[in-house]
Amino acid sequence: MTTPILEVRGLRKVYPVRHGDLVAVDDVSFAVQAGSCLAVVGESGSGKSTCARIIAGLERASAGEVEVDGAPWNTGRLSTSERRRRARVVQMVFQDPYLSLDPRQRVGSCLAESLRLHFDLTAGQRADRIGELLDLVGLTEDHARVRPKQLSGGQRQRVAIARALATRPRLLILDEAVAALDVSIQAQILNVLMDAREHTGVALLFISHDLGVVRQLADDVVVMHHGKVVEQGRAATVLGTPADPYTRRLLESVPRPGWRPTLKEPSCR
Ligand code: ATP
Ligand code: MG
Repeated sequence: MTTPILEVRGLRKVYPVRHGDLVAVDDVSFAVQAGSCLAVVGESGSGKSTCARIIAGLERASAGEVEVDGAPWNTGRLSTSERRRRARVVQMVFQDPYLSLDPRQRVGSCLAESLRLHFDLTAGQRADRIGELLDLVGLTEDHARVRPKQLSGGQRQRVAIARALATRPRLLILDEAVAALDVSIQAQILNVLMDAREHTGVALLFISHDLGVVRQLADDVVVMHHGKVVEQGRAATVLGTPADPYTRRLLESVPRPGWRPTLKEPSCR
């Protein structure tokens, strides 16, 4: 067995709320194999983002362990150089690229900033790498000169993905990264992710409430409900022959391929 790029064991997160404690994540365990795509699915409030934030180091777990490439990851305060090293291992992409991109910064300079921080490159090498990153996400050198507001939502998400890939991470965490996009644009971004994975070997932790989307790219699926894992396994098995009643209910609410809306009688004639 090879070491997974990410392993979480017994993860728990309790938030103190007005009327006591809210258990947002309750004994969650799963592993992401290097270069693979694991999807975490579940309805709103099931604890998906909380898991993601803990793994990304944005929040501390109440209990449990996170290991990246076989080494402990949730280790408290970090030096600047250690934080930088970790950014070359794990990167995160959020739902709204408009909030995560600096509106004043041109796309090229946003990518250059990350490259300057992480790698010792000449200006020429940096320009080449920016071209390579834009190409990887299906943008052109022309896009390097524009600011986020001149881009569509899908293009902005491509920039956010390029910036995340700039550090050559081994794991990309995507929290509802296509949820805000139209279905046809979602499909394009999923293709970008699959291409990026093929070309760079980056593993994906893909968080989504949308099983239709998950079906398109996940190798493995973890189903969460009220903070707990109710089912996990190969995507084909979990989505094809779900064992848990909650997974079955989730699947029933997803339009299948070939699904057509039933036309209702017009209510007023
Ligand atoms: P969604 O699909 O809507 O994004 P989610 O699965 O990502 O949902 P989380 O955001 O992880 O769910 O939230 C899990 C639970 O924890 C929810 O009940 C939420 O209200 C609660 N929660 C999350 N963050 C906090 C916080 N900082 N303080 C208190 N409760 C929180
Ligand atoms: Mg969430």
